[in-house]
Amino acid sequence: MADRINELRNKVTPKEEKKLELDKVERILKRLEQFSSECETCAKYWKILGENVDTLLEKNELGREDFERLKKVKRGMISHLQKTHKLVSEGQNVGLFMAIGISIGTTLGLTVFDNLAIGLCLGLAMGVAVGSGKDAEAKKKGLTI
Ligand SMILES: [Zn+2]
Repeated sequence: MADRINELRNKVTPKEEKKLELDKVERILKRLEQFSSECETCAKYWKILGENVDTLLEKNELGREDFERLKKVKRGMISHLQKTHKLVSEGQNVGLFMAIGISIGTTLGLTVFDNLAIGLCLGLAMGVAVGSGKDAEAKKKGLTI
């Protein structure tokens, strides 16, 4: 399977490769393979992702719908890996805690500080700090997709 992704990497332009997020596809495939012996959904997804890579390999030129399809397939798989296998995607916690920080910061800014800007900055900074810490922790435990 890794061979086929490399083959695809050689075939597409660097821009297309970035758009297809082939590094991510490779990481997802590895995870699915790892879980496939104990999880039917992963085994099924692993097959589907492989078929998608094959389809892309057979094409002479990639169209918009090819990118869209892979994106959709990937999204479903990432969500399964997150929910069922407790994996996190890169930057997931930063995004999550940034949103929480902004929300808390807005409330504090409007009430305690009586200054929305200060509250927002503080909330954002704390959110990024906590989220980065969580992401680093997940990475250390090998839970990053
Ligand atoms: Zn699974």
